[in-house]
Amino acid sequence: MEYIDTHTHLYDERFDGDRGEAIGRATQAGVSRLFLPATDSASHGALIALAKAYPARCYAMMGFHPTSANDNPRWREELELVARLLDEAPVPFYAIGETGLDLYWSRDFLREQEEALRFQIELALSHDLPIVLHVREAFEETIALLSDYRTRGLRGVFHSFAGTTDHYRRMRTLGDFRFGIGGVVTYKNAKLAPVVAEMELADLVLETDSPYLPPVPHRGERNESAYLPLIATKIAELQGISPETVAQTTTETALRLFRIE
Ligand SMILES: [Zn+2]
Repeated sequence: MEYIDTHTHLYDERFDGDRGEAIGRATQAGVSRLFLPATDSASHGALIALAKAYPARCYAMMGFHPTSANDNPRWREELELVARLLDEAPVPFYAIGETGLDLYWSRDFLREQEEALRFQIELALSHDLPIVLHVREAFEETIALLSDYRTRGLRGVFHSFAGTTDHYRRMRTLGDFRFGIGGVVTYKNAKLAPVVAEMELADLVLETDSPYLPPVPHRGERNESAYLPLIATKIAELQGISPETVAQTTTETALRLFRIE
């Protein structure tokens, strides 16, 4: 079985002691490709270095995380840096992200986050790349903003999707979007589980968001890509299908999403 982790922060310093081993464990688990979302200038160097070191395994994205705009006087410079790195392309970039809206910590920076998101949507369209969206406590605001681009051919993925069935139905009308499912679906009493049971398998891709959000039975530990099959198994159980079908379909969907041959 082959799996793709569509969202891992493997360049995070929490992997500094065993990054190569973590890639080895992912390989052992059948997780063949790892997609690396960018957050901000503090980690772009580590991200690019990792994609350079493992060109057949690690695929870079470029973008600016919504919460990195909070209380950050340099947020516009960060956006210019994203645009510049996309042009310079020190490694191939396979998506714009992660970007989006996150009002969990504060609502005070919504205007900055919205402008950063619109800037990155334009980058996705001009570079013909998918966009990787992080949405937290901001479903209505995100749907309203994305509605402005409905006819522009925007495509991408709602990463770490944690909305309702209603959000899912409305979000898939906004463009050619897929939905990243991670460890949260395995949590006891997860509100997400019955939603995933109703989603179209062809709309789903797998992700760990490691080192965050470890699936059961690894809660409280550092998450890593080798745990991805646990998420596939849970989706299979919820949809009443085989883990092989989940692995195969989500892998094909991820390859198409990122336009990998
Ligand atoms: Zn992330």
